[in-house]
Amino acid sequence: MTPPFSRRQFLNMVGAAGGSSAVLQAGIALGLIPSGAAAHTPRADLLNLGSQGRRVVILGAGISGLTCAYELERAGYDVTIIEASNRIGGRNLTVRRGDVIDEMGNPQVCEFDDHPNLYFNCGPARIPAHHENLLHYCKVLNVPLEVFVNVNYHAWVQDPEAFGGRPVRMREYIADARGFMTELISKAVNRADFDAVFSDLDAERLLGFLRAYGDLDENNLYKGSRRAGYASGGMTEAPTLKTPLDFSEILKSSFWRFRMHWGEGEDQAAPLMQAVGGNDNIVKGFVRNIASPIITGAPVQSIRLREDGVDVVYDRGGKAELISADYCFNCIPKHLLHGIPNNFPKEYLTAMANVGRGKLFKIGLQMNERFWEKENIYGGITWTNQEVEQIWYPTHGIHGNKGIMLGAYVFNDQTNDLFARMTPAERIALAIENGEKIHPGYGSHVENGVTVAWHRMNYLMGCTAQWTEEARQRYFQTLQRPTGRHYLIGDQISYHPGWQEGAISSAHHALADLDRRVRAEQGETADV
Ligand SMILES: Cc1cc2nc3c(=O)[nH]c(=O)nc-3n(C[C@H](O)[C@H](O)[C@H](O)COP(=O)(O)OP(=O)(O)OC[C@H]3O[C@@H](n4cnc5c(N)ncnc54)[C@H](O)[C@@H]3O)c2cc1C
Repeated sequence: MTPPFSRRQFLNMVGAAGGSSAVLQAGIALGLIPSGAAAHTPRADLLNLGSQGRRVVILGAGISGLTCAYELERAGYDVTIIEASNRIGGRNLTVRRGDVIDEMGNPQVCEFDDHPNLYFNCGPARIPAHHENLLHYCKVLNVPLEVFVNVNYHAWVQDPEAFGGRPVRMREYIADARGFMTELISKAVNRADFDAVFSDLDAERLLGFLRAYGDLDENNLYKGSRRAGYASGGMTEAPTLKTPLDFSEILKSSFWRFRMHWGEGEDQAAPLMQAVGGNDNIVKGFVRNIASPIITGAPVQSIRLREDGVDVVYDRGGKAELISADYCFNCIPKHLLHGIPNNFPKEYLTAMANVGRGKLFKIGLQMNERFWEKENIYGGITWTNQEVEQIWYPTHGIHGNKGIMLGAYVFNDQTNDLFARMTPAERIALAIENGEKIHPGYGSHVENGVTVAWHRMNYLMGCTAQWTEEARQRYFQTLQRPTGRHYLIGDQISYHPGWQEGAISSAHHALADLDRRVRAEQGETADV
């Protein structure tokens, strides 16, 4: 039987009724759109309310709050943003000369030289190529991007437990580790117990694979590889291969645990990008394109849900101000929100209390010369098992006079606490002590620095919500659903905490829900 309309006509009807997100879902169901596209929350596509706009209050000028403001304003909503800090952007923070780091007990003023290349991304540094919502905003907000070097095989791997603490080039470590592993496997391929699994042809192909993967010789032996870099020669003189590293030393180093594969993770794989001149240019791009008031220095003091709206009281210069809105979007970190007087339902508060508060620590150091370039290092990361965990070399400003280097980026909770207890001067001293083991003379290049313990930053007191599997199962949907007319947003309410894409996707998810409600109320009669 011929269907009454084609699948294309059906999708057009779905689009007219439900917008682009409905088309996406219907298209996936009909097999017309690959389901991989479903992994991404569709961009906001809100019914334009024109002159009938509802009043919305947005709490927190983080990336998710700014996304909501930008989209709602365009759809005719009357928007106000309330931000506790004197600064807009939340965890998206880039510092330059004169900027203040508002860390509890350790306020600092950045003393970098005044130069466009001398800035430090204290928060977001990387923009992965598949973070398509973030990239969309960079494009429409005119935020120029450049390629960011994440993995650099010329950078160092250093571990006090291996190679006598001597740093080795990442290329050498990886090439030799692969060579040794593949040689071992190739020896096993001819053994009888493989017969059940492999045909002779499979085994031959597997040996070919191992030779290529590990750079083995025709006898399936690893005798070093040019992938590890030459010991000498290679241009006008005959090259000499490096002697392979000692395999037991390779195993002793913990680099193989996760750092060796770092650049293969979906969010870490090349190519990555950064905003030219500092990643806070994304925040500035939003601010340039948002006309609604952003009230800064205004900590929210209470939130009351009403049947037909939300009342928010905030502090403005010591005076309590009330704002009543039809809807509220809120990116205040849940561990802080929990303590603000409210009338949220009990299950909502329980859910908030059961999601952990992450910690991260970074140091930015102004170096009087770009000494790393003399070691053939241009961008990327050196990994160490010392306290600082990582040293990053700036991708931008190549061959300039000075540079801002990342002198520490700490993931480990105990080490985060260790750094947090120190003064900024003590933190920098420890970073120099660590750096000397990798780059002798490191300390002599340090002119000044900034240190940021994110779990002590005012109005944030943490980062990267820590969801256990159990918490995900029990509480995620409770927090993702609106409670009355209040939406909790931010990367904290996403499966991508610690990424701006998670923050934006969560904003889009909440906006789509609001849009459904408003369309239902309006009966689709608004000016479009
Ligand atoms: C060290 C570090 C590295 C990172 N690296 C990357 C990266 O490479 N790439 C990437 O994409 N992302 C990265 N991120 C994550 C990224 O910064 C976040 O995902 C994003 O900025 C979070 O935005 P948000 O809207 O969820 O809220 P937040 O930025 O957390 O904003 C919350 C806002 O609420 C405000 N607030 C708090 N209390 C109150 C109150 N009482 N009243 C009013 N306002 C209040 C705060 O001041 C803040 O502005 C990194 C973050 C950190 C810290």
